Amino acid sequence: MQEHLLAPVTSLSGVGEKRAQLLEKLGIKTIFDLIEYYPRAYEDRTQVKSIGKTELGETVCVEGTVASPVNTRLIRKGLTISKVRVVDDTGSLSITFFNQSFVENQLKVGETYCFYGKIEGNLLRREMNTPVFEPIGASPLKTRRLIPIYPLTAGLPAHQLSGYIRRALAVYNDELTDPIPTEIRARETLAFARFAYENIHYPMDEKALELAKKRLIFEELFLLSIGLLKLKSRKNDKNGLKMGKIDLNPFFNALPYTLTNAQLRAVHDATEDLQKSASMNRLVQGDVGSGKTVVAAACAYFACKSGFQTALMAPTEILAEQHLKSMQEFMAPHGISVELLTGSMTAAQKRKCKERLARGEIDLLIGTHAILTDDVEFSRLGLVITDEQHRFGVRQRAALTAKGENPHLLVMSATPIPRTLALILYGDLEVSIIDELPPGRKPVSTYAVDDTKRDRAYGFVRARLEEGRQAYIVCPLVEESDAMELKSVENFTKQLAETKFYGYKVAMLHGKMKGKEKDAIMRAFANGEIQVLVSTTVIEVGVNVPNATVMVVENAERFGLSQLHQLRGRVGRGSEQSYCILFSEIRTGITRDRLRVLCKTNDGFVISEEDMRLRGPGDLFGTRQHGFPDLKIADLVRDLDVLRTAQAAAKEILQKDPTLSDKEHLELKSRMQNLFRQEEYGDSFN
Ligand code: ADP
Ligand code: MG
Repeated sequence: MQEHLLAPVTSLSGVGEKRAQLLEKLGIKTIFDLIEYYPRAYEDRTQVKSIGKTELGETVCVEGTVASPVNTRLIRKGLTISKVRVVDDTGSLSITFFNQSFVENQLKVGETYCFYGKIEGNLLRREMNTPVFEPIGASPLKTRRLIPIYPLTAGLPAHQLSGYIRRALAVYNDELTDPIPTEIRARETLAFARFAYENIHYPMDEKALELAKKRLIFEELFLLSIGLLKLKSRKNDKNGLKMGKIDLNPFFNALPYTLTNAQLRAVHDATEDLQKSASMNRLVQGDVGSGKTVVAAACAYFACKSGFQTALMAPTEILAEQHLKSMQEFMAPHGISVELLTGSMTAAQKRKCKERLARGEIDLLIGTHAILTDDVEFSRLGLVITDEQHRFGVRQRAALTAKGENPHLLVMSATPIPRTLALILYGDLEVSIIDELPPGRKPVSTYAVDDTKRDRAYGFVRARLEEGRQAYIVCPLVEESDAMELKSVENFTKQLAETKFYGYKVAMLHGKMKGKEKDAIMRAFANGEIQVLVSTTVIEVGVNVPNATVMVVENAERFGLSQLHQLRGRVGRGSEQSYCILFSEIRTGITRDRLRVLCKTNDGFVISEEDMRLRGPGDLFGTRQHGFPDLKIADLVRDLDVLRTAQAAAKEILQKDPTLSDKEHLELKSRMQNLFRQEEYGDSFN
């Protein structure tokens, strides 16, 4: 892939820092991102009619010759009206422009233009108001074709974005090399890359658009397949990491509880894998609260006693800190050293930690996914565990492969993945399912209510606080970085502290807080010093405070069902009866049905199936959830057949050229790498 395509958007003339920031909001950073920013829909302006054939109320293109000079009048202050009459062989059309007196200079008597707009007036006197128009001589841009509609952001008008894309396509056209090998492109009858990019944005017609889509969907799934297959081919024959048999009884005996059979099975599966020379690739799937952490601890114990280091990665710092605490408790009796490495530590702390790690003085390192970055060196990394990060599974494997290391990998996830998809995506992962909750758990009682029940609900929460329990109140935020929204959560918290929960200890937690601050608040909550924790969704995954028995969710309709299930999973983690109250103003249709599902069941698999049934698969399998690059155009469910074909083609290519070093595959290789580019490993430890 040409370097130029990966240059920042500002290298396109006319795009300055300010525009670049707006574009970044849309996820567009490079020229290639711009080219790959596909329209979400098209406005069909292809219909061209003779004036006399047009019907009232339809929106069409007509080609008319200007019959009289444009006549502009000032109607009142701030309102000018420009009128012009255009004709063709079949009739005439009166066109009016409001506040566009400049059309006087654009529409010349005797010249023919194409006008796109709605036919109004009556059949004797047809009219059009403020149409889009352009001369018929030049190649059509605004009329007589499908016009792309892009998802936009405030401050960036459609024509501007569209203009940038058009310019990028024109300027970089020569550099758009085709990543699909010729024979495959021919066999699958796929359009050329340049044709596809051109026509996905500015389709000549429906047919061209279909060809472009077909090609780009295939391309995306083909690149994905190549990437996934490369991961699977991760060398499995190294002998270095085969671990010896370790007696786990000392670990089990020091626990305050006995493992459930399902937990024991998962531990057994994983530790069997660790004793093989082939690298483990295992997924431990278990509903929220099923006790995955201790399974991870048992495996880490096993690895450490075999003389290897373990890395445990969590999706958030809060969760990493919590794991640190529980792992320290698990490991303390056994002389296993556990340490934390996160982005919010001071430079000196990080350096010290990294040194100790490289010297092998740390047995179990806990952190966010960033602990796999280049400058973090282990002395003998044997096991990598990722928690609640089904979405990192793929990337981590990519990162590890890239580092040339070959440790065993254990992925822990609460999100059920549909089987067909799992086979393709995680075909190389073995799966252990924890289908049993620790004994004594009571299902969380869940209620979906509207504002009229607010006082009662808060009264109920206060009653639980009086019993010595704690509560979460979760507010949705569109973006953690939105200052306005954060402000509103702050105000909400303050208001609660001063009114409904006056006299109780109320605190707030959000993603923008400093690591230390978050840590302090979480610690205070875990120790019972905070009674009501108002939070954004940073507590969504994994947080474990068993004394918290009430979860209140504001604007519950804004969350997906599986996400609500995760949130609810923060309570019901001890033997006390727990409650979940879902506030929602929307009482109709799907929203209510969705929330009802949660009231009826606590089973994560049932919930995700229902979620899929109600919302359609697209959302649920949103690629972000499942751990591979964001797909721009393909849909893993709709395009499952294409995925199969693409996968077969990918296999074929890799069989012939496993390292993709053939000249014909160089573009393919660099595009695949770009797709898997490790932007998520970006936050560094400097
Ligand atoms: P999750 O699977 O959601 O990560 P955790 O590992 O956080 O669940 O465990 C949830 C809670 O259950 C914790 O408080 C943990 O101490 C407790 N727990 C785990 N296993 C058992 C068990 N076998 N018996 C009793 N409690 C357990
Ligand atoms: Mg967990």
